Parts: sequence; C-alpha cells; structure tokens
Amino acid sequence: MRCLLWLLPAVLAAQTYDVVLQNGRVMDPESGLDAVRSVGIQGKRIARISARPLQGKIEVDAKGLVIAPGFIDLHSHGQTPENYRYKAMDGVTTALELEVGVSPVAEWYAARGGKALINFGASSGHIAARMAVMKDTGNFLPRDAAMNRRATPEEQKAITAAVEKGLDEGALGIGLGLAYTPSATHEEILNIFYLAAKWKRPIFVHLRDSGVSTPGIFESLQEVIADAAASGASLHIVHINSMAQKKTAEALRMIEGARARGLDVTTEAYPYIAASTRLESAVFEPGWQEKQGATYSDLLWVATGERLTPESFERYRKQGGPVVIFMNTEEMVRLALANPIVMIASDGQITNGKGHPRGAGTYARVLGKYVREEKALSLMDAIRKSSLMPAQRLEAMSSQMRRKGRIKVGDDADICVFDPDRVIDKATYENPAQYSEGFRYVLVGGTFVVRDGKLQDAAPGEAIRAQ
Ligand SMILES: [Zn+2]
Repeated sequence: MRCLLWLLPAVLAAQTYDVVLQNGRVMDPESGLDAVRSVGIQGKRIARISARPLQGKIEVDAKGLVIAPGFIDLHSHGQTPENYRYKAMDGVTTALELEVGVSPVAEWYAARGGKALINFGASSGHIAARMAVMKDTGNFLPRDAAMNRRATPEEQKAITAAVEKGLDEGALGIGLGLAYTPSATHEEILNIFYLAAKWKRPIFVHLRDSGVSTPGIFESLQEVIADAAASGASLHIVHINSMAQKKTAEALRMIEGARARGLDVTTEAYPYIAASTRLESAVFEPGWQEKQGATYSDLLWVATGERLTPESFERYRKQGGPVVIFMNTEEMVRLALANPIVMIASDGQITNGKGHPRGAGTYARVLGKYVREEKALSLMDAIRKSSLMPAQRLEAMSSQMRRKGRIKVGDDADICVFDPDRVIDKATYENPAQYSEGFRYVLVGGTFVVRDGKLQDAAPGEAIRAQ
C-alpha cells in the first residue's frame, strides 16, 4: 500500500474539534511548555496542541489568558454542590477530601455520582470510623468518646476493619487526624500505617500536635516519619503552615531530610495566616493557647463573626461550631508556599455561605497575591503546586490521575483558563462566600463548568478512585 503520511498535515488542519481554546499562553508544568498555542479538545480529552489556530465547533479566544491544567485540591472538606461552585470559580477541577476522609466510602461516592460539577473523591477516614465504632456524638469531628477514650482491642479491630473496607471500595488512601483523636495510641496509629502499606495507598495526616509547645511540631513529625519508615507507607502531611507556624523552616527541613533518605513524604499549605476548625474538638483542650500560638481574641466565631472572650469561648465550646484562628505570620505562609516540595491545598469548606475564605479563594489568592503582587513564587511553580504535584501524589494508585495535572495530548481536558493580570480572591474572613475573579473558562472532561467567567449548569464531575 502507498504511504499516505504526506496527507496527514492536511487532514489535521481540516479537523474540527469539539472545543478549541485559541491562541492562549499554554503553561504545562510537566513539559515546561510556556508558549502561545491553540488547544483542540475532542470529547473528554485534549486532542491537539498547535502553534497555529485550530477549527472548533466552539472556539474560545484565549489571547492574553493562561491555559493551565485544572487545579487538583487534595484537601477539600466541602463536598457539596455549594462548595463545588466555589471550587470551579477558583480554577479547581478535582476536589478531594483526603485529610478527614469519609466512612462508609461506597455510600459517599454513590451519593455524588452523575451529579457533581467537578471531579470528587475521598480517603477512607480513620476519624469517621473511630467515631462510629466508639459511638462518639460529634459532628464531623470527635467531641467525646473517640476523642477522650482509648479504643478497646475489639474496637481497634472494628476501626481497622472499617478503614480497610473503605480501601476495598476504592478510597484514595487513609485519612488520619491525630489532633482530633488524641486518645488513639501510637500503636493504633502505627497499625493504620501498616494497613496503608499493605494496600499501597498513602496516609494523609493532620499531625498530633502543632507549634512550639511540647509535644509540638517536632514530636508530631517524628511520630509519622518513623511510622512511614517502619511500615513503608507513603505519607502526606496536611497544612504544614498551620502545624509548624514559627517552626516552618525547621519542619520543612525534617520533611526534606526524610525525602532525601528515600521516604515518600509530601506536604501542602494554604495561603492564609488564619486556620479554622471546630471549637468543640480536641484542638481546644486545655493548653490550646500554646499549641495554636493564639489566645481568645484571636478566635473568630464563624456563625456571627465575633471575636471570642474567655466567657464566650466556654459557651460556644459547649454548643459546638467552626472558628477561625489567627495564629500564623505572612512570613511563614510565604516560606511554605515558596518551598519547592510544598503543594497548594485549601482545607476549605463553605456551609450556607459561612466558613473560612480558603474554601473559595485559595488558588486565585496564590496566583494574585503571592505570584503577581508579592513575587513569592513563579507562575509556573504555582501552577505545578496546584495541578501536577497533587496528580503525581496519587497516580501510583489511581490511573485517572495519570491523565490529569498536565496539558498534554491524550490527557483529560480538565483545564482552567485565567487572566494572570486580574486573577484574585474576593473571599474574606468577614464574607467568605465570594467567588474568585479572573478564571474565564474552566473545563472538566471537556465540558465547560465556567464560561465567560460565569458558572454553568453541568454535571461532568467524575468519581476519582484507586483503580
Ligand atoms: Zn486539618
């Protein structure tokens, strides 16, 4: 047969793609490509990346805009339609609940299948399993039995069995919140690491203690790094910013050292000086001021926006609910964000318009405040930390993640298109329920979820599982 390869350029030029993002600045953190290109999307995948304009049924003029992989948030507690809207408007195409995780897992995935604006997934949660087995009365986080009491051998067996069932159902690892389950012994936790190693799934951990207190950041890192070394489990340490505070440089040195010695340890940060959690949780047991580096007036009661006093602290702690804690410095936040091993993850959750602004503004804030205004890190590094690095954290066990976090032919068309001169967060501590600005187009699997800066009514989000 005659070779028809000479026809190929003409055939490609004549092809009409479903969607074309025309003449944008394509930034791909994997290949390092940073150049004006047109991106042709066919179905759910990226079909062509061309230096010349392409033909599409839908053509978007992306001149002057950055075309980047859609952001992957490893730490997204908000897993509701309300939260997915804030995420999409902040450039996020995949939001995963990996720190606290969920239990039972199969039901959680089933509740979202076919209905989600963006991709979703979760780890198998040790906290939730412990609360169910030990009959804790808390909401989302423990407040009595799972917080205060050691698990009996039978309970430990049941907790492990529940966590393992979640792994069997496709959970993306195991979520651990040691600060919320201080009564979980070191042996109980080590056994969870052995379980993660057996299933080859990562552990996502909120450390046992934080800050400069004793025990604090050093003992906490020593515990999980030792468990990772002994078990062989992969380890991801969440929000190093709020755990390490003034000792951020020292904490990052320990993680870098563990990596240099061959351990698979990663970490993340969010771009805010304030943290947030529930007031009734173990984080506010006596001694919290030293651990959190904060006092009563540093606490903001989310429901009303008021700062707390010793009196209102006691009253609201009995009632239970989220607080924002002002406890870090800009200098430490910048240090964490700029470090090459630190990924961006939001830790966000907005409930009926209330919460911490990180739930809505994390990614635009990194791009607008820390890249453009303060030049704390480069635009390509910020994109890498928000897309490629989270995909790589999960790709050993999830084939889906091997096709995300890149702008590459054949990969999923999960893409965000933003104006680098205007992108900025609008969410504030006083009014967190505000969409970020500057994301002009966001696509999930080739479907627009944001178009011309406006949210679309669509449900292309897929379940991300270990598979
Ligand atoms: Zn946490």
